[in-house]
Amino acid sequence: MHLRRLCGDDRVLTDRVDLEPYLTDERDYFRGAAEMVLLPRTTEEVSILVRACAARGVRIVPQGGNTGLVGGAASAEGEAVLSLRRMNRIVDIDCESMTMTVEAGAILANVCKAAEARGCLFPLSLGSSGSCQIGGNIATNAGGSNVLRYGSMRELVLGLEVVLPDGRIWNGMRALYKDNTGYALRHLFVGSEGTLGVVTKAVLKLFDPPKGTTTAFCGLRSVEAAIALFSLARRKVPGLLSAFELISGFSLEETCRHSGVAPPFKEEHAWYVLLTVSGGVDDAVLRDLSEDFLGAAFEQGLVDDAIIAESLAQSQTLWALREAIPEAEKMLGQTTKHDIALPLSKIAPFLAEAESRLLATFPDLMISVFGHLGDGNLHYNVCLPEVGSMGGDWRDSVADVVYSIVGQYNGSVSAEHGIGKLKRMLLRQHKTAVELDLLERIKASIDPDGQLNPGKML
Ligand SMILES: Cc1cc2nc3c(=O)[nH]c(=O)nc-3n(C[C@H](O)[C@H](O)[C@H](O)COP(=O)(O)OP(=O)(O)OC[C@H]3O[C@@H](n4cnc5c(N)ncnc54)[C@H](O)[C@@H]3O)c2cc1C
Repeated sequence: MHLRRLCGDDRVLTDRVDLEPYLTDERDYFRGAAEMVLLPRTTEEVSILVRACAARGVRIVPQGGNTGLVGGAASAEGEAVLSLRRMNRIVDIDCESMTMTVEAGAILANVCKAAEARGCLFPLSLGSSGSCQIGGNIATNAGGSNVLRYGSMRELVLGLEVVLPDGRIWNGMRALYKDNTGYALRHLFVGSEGTLGVVTKAVLKLFDPPKGTTTAFCGLRSVEAAIALFSLARRKVPGLLSAFELISGFSLEETCRHSGVAPPFKEEHAWYVLLTVSGGVDDAVLRDLSEDFLGAAFEQGLVDDAIIAESLAQSQTLWALREAIPEAEKMLGQTTKHDIALPLSKIAPFLAEAESRLLATFPDLMISVFGHLGDGNLHYNVCLPEVGSMGGDWRDSVADVVYSIVGQYNGSVSAEHGIGKLKRMLLRQHKTAVELDLLERIKASIDPDGQLNPGKML
């Protein structure tokens, strides 16, 4: 076959058994149907393969670790998956410039470890760190639990190398913090979900690791109190807050029940906040600051219970509870998830309205809410023990209610996970005509033949 002759036999897989891992995603939500997987080892090979596919009208689906949750890396019949997994080198770590250069197929956890080994921090932290790739993180503008302090992937990328749909290579590998020379091209590719180019390399920002870290867990009576606590934290520990997570009482109880881990408090609370304070001072100083801040929160009646983790192990146990919520939800029957963002001031009204409208129509639903409150990002997950009278399309009925309220409050229907296949219709419903026109024109100007990742996002 022509593609094999171009780059070597082992760069092209066509055997059904070999293809299988590239057709199944992390949660088995979306099945791919490609009959070919391309496994280049260099940017030049990506360019050759993309050009050859374009000449033959074979559409390409770029794929990283396939951990995205919206079907962005799922392929259709006749398409080729282009996997970056063999381009996984850490090319360079520059501790003076505080930058690191990596190939797009490098696994996030390996990137973080390599930075740590040189005394630096790469702060992106996701539940999928062990399998997702930097290229996938860039293509989805991944967020995670440290966004509050360090920003999402968009803020962590300084330079990019991208193979364009016609095979040309764009070298934007500048390790510059300041560069006002025309349109910021790299930002077009961050969050483009493989529809504009194949990311092959990146220059990432590094940080000094914090000297100390303190984790606290609080029980509260309302979401309003959680939001007021966040404002207080910003004033009392300025610049030190690195995570501020909201967990509903229901989500925590189910997680403790399912995992067998004892709840952090004797009494149950309506809401919980898990927060991390970290910075250039040691643990003892951070602990004092956290005690002061939580003392003020008690005085103002914002928290009813609070603990500060005594050890790294206790802090890890608290975070493990947060990470275990999705597993516990699975035990509650069928689940439908909504990854949404709202202005902070609209979170409490959104939650009240969504719950009252959903339960008025569907009283059997159970609502599990948690998320990165500091970023205004909620995971609004709805579980149903038995489908019964709600019918097979119950998820659509729930989504209509949830997303209509998100729209009403000028929120986002996808805070972290992108659009992929899953949310294409939602994008159409929630963007204005002008926004859609601009998005379509950008796609048409860079990929006029629809060569890359067709049927995704737009
Ligand atoms: C357990 C779990 C926890 C998660 N937690 C978070 C979280 O906290 N925050 C968050 O933001 N996301 C989270 N995610 C989803 C998140 O989007 C991904 O884990 C990750 O960013 C995707 O990387 P990937 O390499 O798996 O990409 P894939 O799933 O392979 O691909 C995702 C999209 O990017 C495109 N793509 C992949 N590689 C490239 C490339 N080199 N060039 C161009 N396009 C490319 C694909 O075509 C696809 O459209 C989570 C997922 C899981 C399973």
